[in-house]
Amino acid sequence: MIIIFVSMKRISIVFFIIFLLISSCFGINCRSNGFLDSFDGISEETDYIFKDSLINAVLQSISTDTVQQIIIDMENFKTRFALAENRRDIAVWLKNRFINAGYDNVVLDSFYVEIERHTVVLKTWQYNVVARLEGKTDTDKKYILGAHYDSINYMNDDFDAPGADDNASGIAAVLEVARVFKQHQISPKYNITFVCFAAEEIDKMGSTYYAEKLSEQNVNVALMINNDMIAYNPDNKKQWKFNVQKYPGTERFIEIIENIAHNYTVLKPVTTTGFLNHSDSYPFHLQGYKAVFFNEYTFNNNIHTFFDIIDNLDIDYCTEIIKISGGLLLEENL
Ligand SMILES: [Zn+2]
Repeated sequence: MIIIFVSMKRISIVFFIIFLLISSCFGINCRSNGFLDSFDGISEETDYIFKDSLINAVLQSISTDTVQQIIIDMENFKTRFALAENRRDIAVWLKNRFINAGYDNVVLDSFYVEIERHTVVLKTWQYNVVARLEGKTDTDKKYILGAHYDSINYMNDDFDAPGADDNASGIAAVLEVARVFKQHQISPKYNITFVCFAAEEIDKMGSTYYAEKLSEQNVNVALMINNDMIAYNPDNKKQWKFNVQKYPGTERFIEIIENIAHNYTVLKPVTTTGFLNHSDSYPFHLQGYKAVFFNEYTFNNNIHTFFDIIDNLDIDYCTEIIKISGGLLLEENL
């Protein structure tokens, strides 16, 4: 009896194990189906994991070496003053950077201006440089990443104006985000336009011309992202802070920026309104467009002098701030 009892017990255990195996197999099947369904966009959780890892991969590709080289190359123009004779050469150099990154639709968006400078009226052509990444959604909705490429020396218009922080650093943000988006074959939901603005140091002429033109054409700009002076970090502490100039009505974007900083960088954003009207985002704000503007936490007193050179900058810090612009565009467009 005891033997029979043991056998029965063994049989029960065997049945129980078989039952467990069958039920776990069904469980695996259910999960498999769920996983496959997620490729059709059903599982938001799985989509989120894909989106998160793609954003991480793209932002990791933003290279300090490339950022450094862009700033050195721009400094080597000696001056990028808006009225200097080399202004078209610089615009063509920027155009070629986009072309080398894989953009085939780059244009010099030229405009004619009369500028009064020290009582003399100067008539010049100026050149914004514009590259586009077409959106896959059937809409005219557009995101803009911009920065100015001109520089200035307040002592004299004819002196060297290296403009490494102001604003080769911002141009590095535009060029480097554009480069890594092509490298990762990003196909954005909406149109993304990369713009290098002319003549910011003379009344924000390039961005004013561009923002007014978009407004006249009723272009639907969802957000303009501006970088101006993002590489000065004299404290060199690891709890790096940077400023987010916050225009009215941008709460949703500020929240995303805080998440990107937390998830993908070592940065701490500090929202402020101290420089709202000081850079190329302002003309977009004046046209009623949403805008955010990133700049370094500590003001750089070397700007507009001979001493705004790369030796006084922190390229690792600059690279981290560039990730914010890339991350914000990806969050909105994947
Ligand atoms: Zn500037």
